[in-house]
Amino acid sequence: MTITYRPAEPIWCAGCGHFGVEAALAGTLADLGISKEETLILAGIGCSGTIQNNLGTYGYHALHGRVLPTATGAWEANPELTVIAAGGDGDGYAIGMGHLIHTFRRNPSFTYIVMNNGVYGLTKGQNSPTRQGAASLDAIHLGLSVLETTFIARAFTRAPEQLRNLMAAAVSHARDGRGFAFLEVLSPCVTYNDTYSLWVTECLDLDTDNEHDPTDRTAAFGRVVALQAQGRTPIGLIYRDPTTEPASFANPAMSDIEPTSHIESYMYIRNRYRT
Ligand code: SF4
Ligand code: MG
Repeated sequence: MTITYRPAEPIWCAGCGHFGVEAALAGTLADLGISKEETLILAGIGCSGTIQNNLGTYGYHALHGRVLPTATGAWEANPELTVIAAGGDGDGYAIGMGHLIHTFRRNPSFTYIVMNNGVYGLTKGQNSPTRQGAASLDAIHLGLSVLETTFIARAFTRAPEQLRNLMAAAVSHARDGRGFAFLEVLSPCVTYNDTYSLWVTECLDLDTDNEHDPTDRTAAFGRVVALQAQGRTPIGLIYRDPTTEPASFANPAMSDIEPTSHIESYMYIRNRYRT
């Protein structure tokens, strides 16, 4: 007999930002009328990697740093699913960084939510790549620098309405087949790196900034870099490619398969899994 353990309550510390992410995700799925049965949430390793346990959708706990290739495979196998990958900054920006770059480049049509708190919370607060002082990694810069990216946003759990709006925009973008939707959420770890008050001071909302044009990649890149030099952290819709059309599951990942005769074998295997 298989026994499945499903926590009734999230296992996070009281005050953890991840509660806000989960609430926004649950609200987004409800707002968009997406049923549990047509949703797959895959998570990486870390405190954030338990989010899929709490939402009642299909869920999958991927290997450390491997949530993106796993989500790509799930989306390939059943593009009618609403596929949402989630994880932390340690999982996604350290061991998983190679996958992030190539997922930006391939532009598969699913959503990726990264809960950034600057630390590895599950293993007691070691610094992650986003907490390295002047050498900190900024995934927004990275995403803007990859020309295939179509949706890049950052939210903060202290601004829950904006978080929910950005999450709905991200999930809709991916669900419509417009490409990879990347949403970083500043989600403080109250136990090892409580950044609530710091981020309240540092964050600057681009959604209410008339100078920011989220359809202009070059300008967005310049603005984000300039703000960072001023010690500010931009949140809001950073960039959305205005030219993307609903792609009805066009498969950019296929362009990586060589020689082309292998595509036939690939399609055969994939279709076997679909039937
Ligand atoms: Fe959240 Fe930090 Fe607690 Fe993990 S250790 S549940 S990230 S507050
Ligand atoms: Mg973390």
